[in-house]
Amino acid sequence: MKVFHRAADLQEYLRKRRTNNRSVGFVPTMGALHQGHLALVERSREENQLTIVSIFVNPTQFNDPEDLQKYPRSPGKDIELLAGVGCEVVFLPVVAEVYPSVAKETNPPLDFNGLDTVLEGEMRPGHFAGVADVVERLLRLTKPDRLYLGQKDYQQVAIVRSMIRQRNLPVEVCMAPIVRAKDGLALSSRNQRLQPEYRSHASNIYKHLNLLKVNLLNKGKNQTGLIRKTLDVLSEVPGCRPEYLSVIDPDSLEPLIDGSPVTGAVIVTAVWVGDVRLIDNVIVQ
Ligand code: AMP
Repeated sequence: MKVFHRAADLQEYLRKRRTNNRSVGFVPTMGALHQGHLALVERSREENQLTIVSIFVNPTQFNDPEDLQKYPRSPGKDIELLAGVGCEVVFLPVVAEVYPSVAKETNPPLDFNGLDTVLEGEMRPGHFAGVADVVERLLRLTKPDRLYLGQKDYQQVAIVRSMIRQRNLPVEVCMAPIVRAKDGLALSSRNQRLQPEYRSHASNIYKHLNLLKVNLLNKGKNQTGLIRKTLDVLSEVPGCRPEYLSVIDPDSLEPLIDGSPVTGAVIVTAVWVGDVRLIDNVIVQ
């Protein structure tokens, strides 16, 4: 496995390795890797001849400096895990490699048509501008055929798809299902920061998303009422403070209107568990 810290070295290597008919898969991550990330790498390995993983805690997508500072980092262990699943190329840059002081050619500003100001965007102003910018920079460096993203960050997938469309980048977006712990908690690098007494309670997030899904499918008329009930139950769980819970259209991300069909909709939530903010979602089908 090759590990690159400098963009120029990565590009030089890729230039040699990218020959005809070799498709390249790319998995961007912020490190502190877990099985959710590794599942993306394994899928890319199955579908491409060369897989690149980036590990970069992108400062521009953190609106809270404390969150950035506390974000878990374990590059040594990450490299071992990636070698274990047969990843060929790791890009582990410092900030200046991704954001060089020499300005890149300026592209017109992106317009996400509201996708970036709802849900996570409302709670974390500027977050998605940072995400779109770093993914665009990484795509321009790596030039993959396929980009692998997790459903775990559903809204992020919508934003990245929109950026790729607007920039006309020749890359296919592949969204992989959420990998969960045995008790249903969506795997997340942030889970390791959960206080031990709250860890088991955190599984209630997935449990109640699923109950809401079943209720929506069986008696979906009063969606607002069912959402309210779920919020009330989640608020009763020790340590849990739901920030939002919404049933949204899979493309526009707008909340469904009461009484409209729920099949294909996505239930999305952000919940504070102690001082850790977790997100999760379930597709209603
Ligand atoms: P992150 O390192 O959190 O930025 O995540 C890197 C990629 O892994 C993103 O596309 C995430 O959506 C994806 N990912 C994170 N957690 C999971 C999970 N539990 N299951 C599947 N994909 C995930």
